[in-house]
Amino acid sequence: MNGSSLHLQVDKGTFPVVAELSRDDAKEQIRAAGLRATAPRVAVLRLLASTDRPLSHTDVVEAIGCTDWDQATLYRNLLKLVEVNLARVVSKVGGVSRYEARGDDDGAHLHPHFSCRTCGCVECLPDAKLTGPVHRRWNRSLETSELQLIGDCPGCLATQKSKQASGARKRTKRRS
Ligand SMILES: [Zn+2]
Ligand SMILES: [Zn+2]
Repeated sequence: MNGSSLHLQVDKGTFPVVAELSRDDAKEQIRAAGLRATAPRVAVLRLLASTDRPLSHTDVVEAIGCTDWDQATLYRNLLKLVEVNLARVVSKVGGVSRYEARGDDDGAHLHPHFSCRTCGCVECLPDAKLTGPVHRRWNRSLETSELQLIGDCPGCLATQKSKQASGARKRTKRRS
């Protein structure tokens, strides 16, 4: 696998929208966390909150664009949001930190993430829950835990399947 295959493909504006975080709500969350609600902070938080997959710094830059703020500004604000618990790093697969908004749930972002060993995409699996009786003394630990499932994503599996099918067709042809 080369470095570029780890890059998450991001098309501007085609993110599946989860729950749009309004500008005012974003400002309120940021202020409640004790920060000034600056424009880049609001933009980064709204992007993270309305995307159903964790985003790397590069994804954030590509989605927001560098016209108003440079990469460093966006990065600084991303880290600031993590510092005040409005966002968190949920995946470090391939050495790339990916961020998600924590949302206004109980702060425990416990859904696992799937990372594809073929194309490098990282997706949330919100319906996959970690369940089972766990002793109380693990509560805090679980809040800060990361669960990463690794395999081939549906897109890569489909590609592999069609490759196998065309391979099989070629072999049959040769035999006849
Ligand atoms: Zn894949
Ligand atoms: Zn997630």
